[in-house]
Amino acid sequence: MARYIFITGGVVSSLGKGLTSAALGALLQARGFTVRLRKLDPYLNVDPGTMSPFEHGEVFVTDDGAETDLDLGHYERFTGVAARATDSVSSGRIYTNVLEKERRGDYLGKTIQVIPHVTNEIKDWIAIGDDEVDFMLCEIGGTVGDIEALPFFEAIRQFAQERERDQCIFMHLTLVPYVTAAGELKTKPTQHSVKELRSIGIAPDVLVTRAEHPIPDKEREKIALFCNVRKEAVIPGYDLKSIYEAPMAYHGVGLDQAVLDAFRISPAPKPELSRWQDVEDRINHAEGEVRVAIVGKYVQLEDAYKSIKEALTHGGMANRTKVISEWIDAEIFEKEDPAPYLEGYHAILVPGGFGERGTEGKIRAAQFARERKIPYLGICLGMQMAVIEAARNTLGITNAGSEEFDHEAGEKRFTPVVYHLKEWVQGNYKVKRKVSDDKGGTMRLGAYTATLKPGSKVAGIYGKTEIEERHRHRYEVDIKYRDELEAKGLTFSGLSPDGRLPEIVEWTDHPWFIGVQFHPELKSKPFAPAPLFADFVRAAMEVERLV
Ligand code: GLN
Repeated sequence: MARYIFITGGVVSSLGKGLTSAALGALLQARGFTVRLRKLDPYLNVDPGTMSPFEHGEVFVTDDGAETDLDLGHYERFTGVAARATDSVSSGRIYTNVLEKERRGDYLGKTIQVIPHVTNEIKDWIAIGDDEVDFMLCEIGGTVGDIEALPFFEAIRQFAQERERDQCIFMHLTLVPYVTAAGELKTKPTQHSVKELRSIGIAPDVLVTRAEHPIPDKEREKIALFCNVRKEAVIPGYDLKSIYEAPMAYHGVGLDQAVLDAFRISPAPKPELSRWQDVEDRINHAEGEVRVAIVGKYVQLEDAYKSIKEALTHGGMANRTKVISEWIDAEIFEKEDPAPYLEGYHAILVPGGFGERGTEGKIRAAQFARERKIPYLGICLGMQMAVIEAARNTLGITNAGSEEFDHEAGEKRFTPVVYHLKEWVQGNYKVKRKVSDDKGGTMRLGAYTATLKPGSKVAGIYGKTEIEERHRHRYEVDIKYRDELEAKGLTFSGLSPDGRLPEIVEWTDHPWFIGVQFHPELKSKPFAPAPLFADFVRAAMEVERLV
């Protein structure tokens, strides 16, 4: 049976609970333990798949095709453990399960209540895969005191109570603000937050206190005294230059030791931290820099492209160079020439996206990259736009476009070079879709195999001809344009194993122009950068040498 670490937050949101959990997972791995991280979100959406990136940031897709919270991306990037559909759950999912059981008559006529029915459902979810790992780290979204989170807090309280002693601990994150006028750090918000937590029956074993200023020993003692936590278990969490410094930084202030002490694991196995030392070394000793323009739609909110930004950083680490990524609103290029904006960059990335807004600008960015021979990486919609650009400007199909935009507008305006995918193969099954299907969970989602053309640029980059990458799309480049486009130099260098779905295109007569239907950023890690991102950054460095 696994040991459980429940991670909660208080005072304010955005304290970095997800990152702290991920860093703790990495440290437990460094001590030789196996881990799995899980996120319990109190909102009522069944999953974040239907939420706007402005609401929720990026939707992180797992191998098994779940659309999950972006914190799962942090978990994977720090631990390398592939998240599963069962590692992310919301109130909406829990209530849906409970209500489906009620309709089926599973509760045998009982009155269905939050306690015990909803809390039991949560507890069952928490315990999925209980016998597979040494530690299960469960993060509760939101902050203590949120009305909608109460069933989750109650469920973890019961869970710990029902397990053997020393099998579950609670870790709580708070903020220790600095009041400039008084010149002092304030511990009161932390005290109140812990009081709130204790009032619902949860006593924290470890407190992580986020602060912008060093917390002196005296204040640490005060927090320990007032919050009924041992002094060594009050762990300061300071802002860092790079998130990848978090494992070493938390180790330095004793987080993993405090957690193992709370479980009474003694003697604690010695940590093997060379992976994180190497990561730190690569961050701190980068030579040179490259500038990458990300031409996208959700540019105001960096979290919308979280994994892309991280994968670019990893690509930089692979090449020991610093990547400066800047967001440019694609809509600008619908009115203005992209050249003055894009000339200052070593590479252009067009990420995924939904809807027509900004797409004409992305097409112009792709054209600029192709004509000027600037490295271009098109991801999902970014690949589709590159193909539309090729169809318009090299095949002369002037109204080439995507059915997605016609569906949105409710009228037919484009020749669909990118069409609505209604049937595809997943393993031994045929998946079918209709235009009228629900929006939630109906895309081509999760890991699919692609077969790469021997001798192509991508086959060289991956070093093999069969890869697995994660997908999240409803529309697909039409294979019927392959021969015509290949004759113009746009090679279809990756296909689904049945040869029907274009997965990768690349311009042969170009130093580096690759479009991929999948999301390589989702599998990138600082210690194992995604091959496409590592090589994209390398190609960008070549451009610098030419300048
Ligand atoms: N909107 C496009 C589709 O559904 C692209 C999706 C994406 O970029 N993730 O096919």
